[in-house]
Amino acid sequence: MKLVRYGSSGREKPGLIDGEGRLRDLSVAIEDIGPATLSPQGLNSLRSIAPESLPRVKGRPRLGPPVAGISKIVGVGLNYRDHAKEAGLALPQEPILFMKATTSLGGPDDPILLPSGSAKTDWEVELALVIGTTARRVPVARALEHVAGYCIANDVSEREWQLERGSQWDKGKGCDSFGPLGPWLVTADEVADPQALRLWLELNGERMQDGSTADMVFGCAELVSVTSAYMTLLPGDVIITGTPAGVGLGRRPQRFLRPGDRLRLGIDGLGVQEQQVTAG
Ligand code: ZN
Repeated sequence: MKLVRYGSSGREKPGLIDGEGRLRDLSVAIEDIGPATLSPQGLNSLRSIAPESLPRVKGRPRLGPPVAGISKIVGVGLNYRDHAKEAGLALPQEPILFMKATTSLGGPDDPILLPSGSAKTDWEVELALVIGTTARRVPVARALEHVAGYCIANDVSEREWQLERGSQWDKGKGCDSFGPLGPWLVTADEVADPQALRLWLELNGERMQDGSTADMVFGCAELVSVTSAYMTLLPGDVIITGTPAGVGLGRRPQRFLRPGDRLRLGIDGLGVQEQQVTAG
């Protein structure tokens, strides 16, 4: 299933994309797509509904993040070999984790707001996984059983605030609008191999990132397992799994976002995001 939330910010309704790519209203069946929806039972009860029995939604409403009630977003640093190389940093021996504020979340096509005083705002296309059942110290072999589905994230990052103002990255990761998520939550049964997905990003039509999740240093199962050893993952929690090479920080000369820039990013089977950059 491809699950979505549509409508104005903070007032989104649940929906799904049917086999013909049309948006259907799910609000007859559930109030919202949130932690309670994401359990195997919750998803199975949605699967039992024939999409054609649901009302079609007219027009092209705004999409919000495909999941409500996210308690935390865990980021993973330097998790692609080519990206660690462009950043001039050694490959990590164990996943580098950081927290991204949930207030940074936005819809897949919402504008990116450059914060006042920002000079180095950058892009990062990433595979996001969404937790479906509580995960606490889970072994690698069982880790993916806790994943409800996958979606695209743009881990927008202010590099000066991330790297030049103290020892943690969080200052540059959590600004409002820095966490576009979606367009859909694609349930895990429809993603045959999360380690074989092409992911790409274009700035003003020029391809900047073009990688494969096969190049991750630590795969999705390992990331869920390791993270769950340090903190309890709740249904709805999101892990953004790192970005391949091609970010603005790694270019020579470096290139950062300016008002008017347009980003397009996608992952095989998970759709496309499009964002306009504006002064915040
Ligand atoms: Zn990232």
